[in-house]
Amino acid sequence: MQSVKLTILGSTGTIGESTLDVISRHEQYQVVALTANSQVEKLYQQCLQFHPQYAAMVDENSAAQLAEKLKKAGLEISVLSGTEGLETVAALDEIDTVMAAIVGAAGLLPTLAAARAGKKILLANKEALVMSGHLFMEEVRANGATLLPIDSEHNAIFQCMPENYSEGLAHVGVNKILLTASGGPFRTQALDQLNTVTPAQAVAHPNWVMGQKISVDSATMMNKGLEVIEACWLFDTTADMIQVVIHPQSIIHSMVSYKDGSVLAQLGNPDMRTPIAHAMAWPERIDSGVEPLDIFEVANFEFEKPDMQRFACLRLAYEAMARGGTATTVLNAANEIAVDAFLNEKIGFLQIPQIIESSLTAVAIDEATNLEQVLKADQQARLHAKEMVLRNGRVN
Ligand code: NAD
Ligand code: MG
Repeated sequence: MQSVKLTILGSTGTIGESTLDVISRHEQYQVVALTANSQVEKLYQQCLQFHPQYAAMVDENSAAQLAEKLKKAGLEISVLSGTEGLETVAALDEIDTVMAAIVGAAGLLPTLAAARAGKKILLANKEALVMSGHLFMEEVRANGATLLPIDSEHNAIFQCMPENYSEGLAHVGVNKILLTASGGPFRTQALDQLNTVTPAQAVAHPNWVMGQKISVDSATMMNKGLEVIEACWLFDTTADMIQVVIHPQSIIHSMVSYKDGSVLAQLGNPDMRTPIAHAMAWPERIDSGVEPLDIFEVANFEFEKPDMQRFACLRLAYEAMARGGTATTVLNAANEIAVDAFLNEKIGFLQIPQIIESSLTAVAIDEATNLEQVLKADQQARLHAKEMVLRNGRVN
């Protein structure tokens, strides 16, 4: 088998660790660069195990500490720092593949650097597409990069699409994408109890093990909203073509409905190593370490329509996508601030959608055709959302 050289952006996160787990099962994958924000010890341990040529940390002090530790251990690994360090390792000549697994808007610039360098991008960092889908897809096309979805739903949709889907969904006979959602931990919680839920309750996802931010996004269903927007860009379609389906078992990872009446689905145990291994080896298949699905044990599948009142974040995401331009940039930025404030117990759970809605009203929406417009909208939304948090989330 041909050897594959990779950079893993966000290697210390949940997706980063699952990627390294799949890599460790196969000879042909060679880790060239690993990156993290500030977790020195974890990145150091990964360097000991995978011997990359480069390690990059956003935080300067953390990078200096890492360099010191690596030197003491006698490892010759170049340590880079700052966002530029991440951009450099995402675009190295010696790599062909980049796993984009940084959480949030911080992933945009390094992932864009990978697109500009024409790499094969395994995209977990959905926020990059939500912030700047138009720009990002342009860079992918213009530089001959390949974009493969890691998000389990989008990976499932990709697997259920014909090879030539980029000629247009109508052209290939698709009439709907059915995007599944677990509904998170509060799907059946009494509405009047929602504002008193704690961060610990919100991050306790029933089926998936994930980072903190995406776990809160799953509880508000903003994660599904971001995924609707992500799917619009990946499959070049509009939000009205995407029906969110609550499927609490998280075994069907999404479906594609065709005009002849066929509905194709991808199933599997909820373990991110399946979409990761799929995208890493595509169009071949490799072992991922995931247990085969026991269909008899699963036995029952349930499906429900999402309640847009309970899940205001999902409604806001549909509205932002319909509005277009930087509306989704504002949605994403305000959500990041609100989720962080909720995790730090500065606001209640129900204030998350209030802060996002207020930001979408307060910040001027522009076209999103260049990076300046996108970054400006992102900054303005963050400022507004932070003000709302300072006022203890009260929107008045
Ligand atoms: P995580 O919080 O576990 O890990 C995040 C990673 O990003 C870490 O390596 C961290 O060091 C790095 N990071 C954080 N802030 C950074 C910054 N400012 N600059 C540079 N690096 C930074 O998150 P995760 O659950 O692994 O999710 C990563 C991405 O994958 C997110 O966009 C998420 O939406 C997406 N995703 C995750 C899952 C999942 O099951 N975990 C599923 C689908 C999609
Ligand atoms: Mg997902």
